[in-house]
Amino acid sequence: MNIFRCTKCYRIIHHSQVNSCSTGYGVDSEGNKICLVCCGNEDRRHLKAMAIGDKTMLYLVKNTEFVARTCGVQQHNEFWLSNWPGTLKIPIYGIHVGHHNWELNRYDMWFKFGGLEFWGLKIGDDHDCVTVKRIKDKGE
Ligand SMILES: [Zn+2]
Repeated sequence: MNIFRCTKCYRIIHHSQVNSCSTGYGVDSEGNKICLVCCGNEDRRHLKAMAIGDKTMLYLVKNTEFVARTCGVQQHNEFWLSNWPGTLKIPIYGIHVGHHNWELNRYDMWFKFGGLEFWGLKIGDDHDCVTVKRIKDKGE
C-alpha cells in the first residue's frame, strides 16, 4: 500500500484515498513529498511572493458548470487558473483570444491574486499550460 507523510502538515496520506490518476503528492525543491492541499498553499504563497516581472506556470481550466448554467454563452469568467493538483482556483477577470501566427491561437488573460496583478499567456490549443507573469498594478 502506498502511504506517505506530508512534510508540511505531517498528515499521513494513503494514495488510495486520492484520485487514482494522480500520484497523490507533490515534491518540493528538496525532494520531500507534500500533500495536494499543501501544494495549493505553497502555490498561493509563491504567487504572493512574486516580484514584478517574475514568472511561473499555471493551468487554464474551463468551467463547464458555468457554461451549462448560461446555456453556452461565452463569457470570460467561464475560465479559471489552477495548479496541477487542482487545489488552487483563481478566477480570471479578462481573457482575449487572438492569433499568434497562422496556425496557433494565443490567449492573453489577466487576474488579481493577493492584491497583486498578473498576466497570463497560453499559446496553442494542445495544452493548458499558462505562463504567468506578475505585472505592475494598474495606476502604479
Ligand atoms: Zn500537507
